[in-house]
Amino acid sequence: MPTSQPDNKRAAIGRLRPLGAGLLIAALATVVVGALYVRLGPAWPYRLLPLVPRGIVVHHSATDTDIGLGADAAFLDRVHSDRGWGLRYGQQVYHIGYHYVILPNGTVQPGRPEWMPGAHTTSYNHYLGICLIGDFSDRGAQTQHPTDAQLDALVNLTVKQMRRHSIPLSRLLRHCDLGATECPGAGVPWEQVLRRVQAGIDHS
Ligand SMILES: [Zn+2]
Repeated sequence: MPTSQPDNKRAAIGRLRPLGAGLLIAALATVVVGALYVRLGPAWPYRLLPLVPRGIVVHHSATDTDIGLGADAAFLDRVHSDRGWGLRYGQQVYHIGYHYVILPNGTVQPGRPEWMPGAHTTSYNHYLGICLIGDFSDRGAQTQHPTDAQLDALVNLTVKQMRRHSIPLSRLLRHCDLGATECPGAGVPWEQVLRRVQAGIDHS
């Protein structure tokens, strides 16, 4: 017996129903993601699920001495802007790849917010990036060193962040430990930094 007309129609509707539901879900998802994008910018997933830093990477700005003294977070933001590193949040675009910048006088300046992934070390941008202003590359007898105030600030900031995010000493690293670079340079007394950070953690 041939299938009656209404049965055919019912079968066709039955086949279309999952397609309609799929389209509806896709449309809703587009609206939700679009609204989040408009409200929070392209970094919106990190606003919902903020980055939990798994470690810390220390850098230097490699700015020569003349500029070095004037370089700060705003200067690095401009430099990184030229390289096209940027992440928008609200009205502000963060170009600076580091989360913190430490000036020679020991001032700690905020870079990009901690909840944003960094743009400082390939494959390690889920680590916090701290940049010491100066050029501590190996130049033999001419090698420059961070100031005492800069080292004190680095140790204090590092201890604070390691306690806050439960970061072990084994994940406090230099850029050169993770890639083919001499950053932050031989002029940074790394053994001393590690010793002081360990002591800071033990006593805080
Ligand atoms: Zn570096």
